[in-house]
Amino acid sequence: MVDIINKKRDGAALSRDEIKYFIDGCVDGSIPDYQTSAFLMAVFFRGMEDTELADITMAMAHSGDMVDLSPIKGIKVDKHSTGGVGDKTTIAIAPIVASCGVKMAKMSGRGLGHTGGTVDKLESIPGYRTVLDKDAFFNQVNKIGVSVIGQSGNLAPADKKLYALRDVTGSVPSIPLIASSVMSKKLAAGADCILLDVKCGSGAFMKNEEDAITLAEKMVAIGERNNRRTMAYVTNMDIPLGQNIGNALEVKEVVDVLKGAGPADLVHECVELSATLLYLADKGEMSECREMVQQAINDGKAFKKLLEMVQAQGGDASVLENTDKLPQDPVCYELKADKSQTGYISHMDTESIGIASTMLGAGRETKDSVIDPAAGIILLKKTGDKVSEGDVMARLYTSQQGLIKPAVDRYLSSLEFSENQPPTAKLVYAVVDINGVRKI
Ligand code: URA
Repeated sequence: MVDIINKKRDGAALSRDEIKYFIDGCVDGSIPDYQTSAFLMAVFFRGMEDTELADITMAMAHSGDMVDLSPIKGIKVDKHSTGGVGDKTTIAIAPIVASCGVKMAKMSGRGLGHTGGTVDKLESIPGYRTVLDKDAFFNQVNKIGVSVIGQSGNLAPADKKLYALRDVTGSVPSIPLIASSVMSKKLAAGADCILLDVKCGSGAFMKNEEDAITLAEKMVAIGERNNRRTMAYVTNMDIPLGQNIGNALEVKEVVDVLKGAGPADLVHECVELSATLLYLADKGEMSECREMVQQAINDGKAFKKLLEMVQAQGGDASVLENTDKLPQDPVCYELKADKSQTGYISHMDTESIGIASTMLGAGRETKDSVIDPAAGIILLKKTGDKVSEGDVMARLYTSQQGLIKPAVDRYLSSLEFSENQPPTAKLVYAVVDINGVRKI
């Protein structure tokens, strides 16, 4: 293993056998964590060539089960976000797409660092089971078109091992490491079509547009090379998505979207991504797919599908019909602007906002932390909004009064103000498919 680390450290390309040796050793435990960490840091600094990237992705995908979705009839679609703050789109998109006749058998992850995870959000619905055995998962998708569960322990176990080490060794934001992490899981999960949402900005792992587009291109190339129709959106994560951050709060906002009353940025992203999944599944041209999605929201079909999915997985769907019944915290703090916090919000450091939400209990500070499903933040003022003294900028929810002050301090440190209104930010920077990059 030392030779492999040295070779990567010096910038040389590794052979397929060397990569396989590394991944096998990671999974069977024969390579110690300190050598794996050194290897990851070498990749962080030296990068990987396209052939190495293809080889490591396949080795990681094959390190566990390759799920065969063929017992589910029809085209199966999947989506993946590289992680953001307030990104609850999967919970809206899965029922939208299923209500338009396209199957979604989706395995999702938990929160990572400052970013939230779909599984944690769904678990804020009392009774919702995120673990189903394979037959129950397949049967449910055949019957109602959709299921969202947690990733099984044996889906790309190499990624699980590598991710845990990257998280604590500063090697998360590396294009080849993110591309192989995401695509190994997507290839192993077995869908025919894959839509990637590559987040870009202060709340994302990719901080600038150029890197985010490169990551999107690499992932699309891996998907297409493996015969999956793959597209990627590069979207803005310099501002949280929607207004609500935190698990039950985000579920509530999904209900708003499916009832036609969600915030404009979140609705736009849910409609675009859902329509693109329908398009990938050959349901029509993009404009027709957009109409189908809008119709499914307008006539309540998509919301009904969410209720059906939740019921099928043991959840109490009545909390979606009356969202006041979702978990609630005893402490609610209204953060009002003082004299120094007036004018227009010109920037929100979105990673800090995710951290503030974690500090309230919405995320994990250590691997073993227990999440408070009701904790989080509702943003009443976002970038571009005018703020006057005394305006409520945000509501913070938590179970313990003592958590408010540090979270408020962190939240306030994320805000910048200006006298003039900043230009409206784009929601989508680029769309990438096999034919190349289309900047928006
Ligand atoms: N999401 C993943 O699944 N993997 C990464 O490396 C980053 C985001």
